Amino acid sequence: MTFPTVVSKQDHLIHIVKNQRKTECGITYHHFTIVNRSDLKRIKFIREDSITCATCLQHYLNQK
Ligand SMILES: [Zn+2]
Repeated sequence: MTFPTVVSKQDHLIHIVKNQRKTECGITYHHFTIVNRSDLKRIKFIREDSITCATCLQHYLNQK
């Protein structure tokens, strides 16, 4: 299974994208990127075991 993810600039953690503005751990990812069409290219679909934000993973697991 793959997830849409973004990488935060501060700590380079890989987060799961929850919706158009936020990650699972509650970060508004548009704050650390530029809001335009190239934004969409920042979202990468990767496997669950490559996600490095523990909070995002925990939120996802809690939803199951
Ligand atoms: Zn996160």
